[in-house]
Amino acid sequence: MAENKGVTPQSEDYSRWYTDVVKMADLADNAPVRGCMIIKPYGYELWENIKTALDMRFKATGHRNAYFPLFIPMSFIEKEAEHVEGFAPELAVVTHGGGKELEEPLVVRPTSETVIGHAFSDWIQSYRDLPLLINQWANVVRWEKRPRLFLRTTEFLWQEGHTAHATEEEAVAETLQMLDIYADMAINECAIPVIKGLKSPQEKFAGAADSYAIEAMMGNTWALQSGTSHFLGQNFAKAFNIQYLDEANEQQYAWTTSWGVSTRMVGGVVMAHGDDKGLRLPPHIAPYQVVITPIWKTPEDEESVFRFTNLVADQLRSAGIRIHVDKRAGLSPGFKFNDWEMRGVPVRLEIGPRDVEGNSVMSARRDVPGRDGKQILPLEGLEMAIAELLENIQSSMLETATKFRDERLHEVETYEELKALVGQGWGLMWHCGSPECEDKIKEDTKATSRCFPLDENPEWNPVGEKCAVCGKPAFGRAYFSRAY
Ligand SMILES: [Zn+2]
Repeated sequence: MAENKGVTPQSEDYSRWYTDVVKMADLADNAPVRGCMIIKPYGYELWENIKTALDMRFKATGHRNAYFPLFIPMSFIEKEAEHVEGFAPELAVVTHGGGKELEEPLVVRPTSETVIGHAFSDWIQSYRDLPLLINQWANVVRWEKRPRLFLRTTEFLWQEGHTAHATEEEAVAETLQMLDIYADMAINECAIPVIKGLKSPQEKFAGAADSYAIEAMMGNTWALQSGTSHFLGQNFAKAFNIQYLDEANEQQYAWTTSWGVSTRMVGGVVMAHGDDKGLRLPPHIAPYQVVITPIWKTPEDEESVFRFTNLVADQLRSAGIRIHVDKRAGLSPGFKFNDWEMRGVPVRLEIGPRDVEGNSVMSARRDVPGRDGKQILPLEGLEMAIAELLENIQSSMLETATKFRDERLHEVETYEELKALVGQGWGLMWHCGSPECEDKIKEDTKATSRCFPLDENPEWNPVGEKCAVCGKPAFGRAYFSRAY
């Protein structure tokens, strides 16, 4: 490893800061194919922890994992008109296989509604087969013209849930349940406060009746759509003939949903918490919650320090705390501290000869710099003290991120107010929902409609409220902001 040069300060160039952190914290690298990324072990472990947090929640609500093929016949994608139109520019298409031109081109899945719809039409015959609750962990490909590591990559990892229901009410309830699960995961695992809302017609998923999303504020105030949940109505059921016999023995079309969270979330964690020293990871998802740095000079010290370090490591490990011991020789403690700071490890423990003598360790918090974040912890009961410290850090990171965001959410009455706000926060404004108004706002300010927040809109189409841009009746209040 080369000298720790540090990252570009956020205030100088936020975009370069982001790329520096992703690379210097060893999360990911660019791949030979532009737009693809190599996710390194540290980045992958972070994703795995997000994945586990989601998977538990899916299973607890009755979903089961399955796997569907990477290749999808082109004709499948073409069956739902809006779907094909939405995805056409992003498709990667295979035309040759086994040394021959294929009779029908195959699409590398951009999402699996179609192939899963095909399977569902077979699996579902009667009302007894419903609800069908399936999730898949997979990679997908959507050709990106302007890729950014984790945020927009041509190939990315995600989960896509697909469910079928007997009634519209059940399918809508499922869509909202998954939105809640995503919000819970973002808030309680990633320490990122999110706003749940309905996407505008222009921003919704291609082929969905309604799309919902969780929207998070990044460190530069831009928004990141961090998870989506779609109510698909009967669009895909009709395109793929997903029908069931109801209790009266009549054929009915099913109602379907789909929902997804991707490796974008990793980018969200970087940008919601990172600072000029690098990454800051919430303990619940940090690959290493604690890094132990033994410090020694003489061979005698080395022996006793390492004996004590192993004792501490075992004690924490058996309490289920994710730890790493930095045994690298020939590197100064200062270098190691900077290195783990860069990688955002929540707690650092230093163990030197004096700590061995005192039967204690020196702990330092990543989220509280300097002396204030340091304390001496006795070996006795260390695992409990550390567990408590990790929970403190987790909630304090959520508090910090929530305060940062709330100070930058503003209700705006007029379009002029929104224009003045863009780039410094999000504006909540009455909006008709039309693509025309959204295009105008985007052209004028580069801001896009993020969502109609569910909490801020007790009803749709309220009487008397007017769109701040066109003056036509408002559908509701929507947040507008620059976004990734
Ligand atoms: Zn309007």
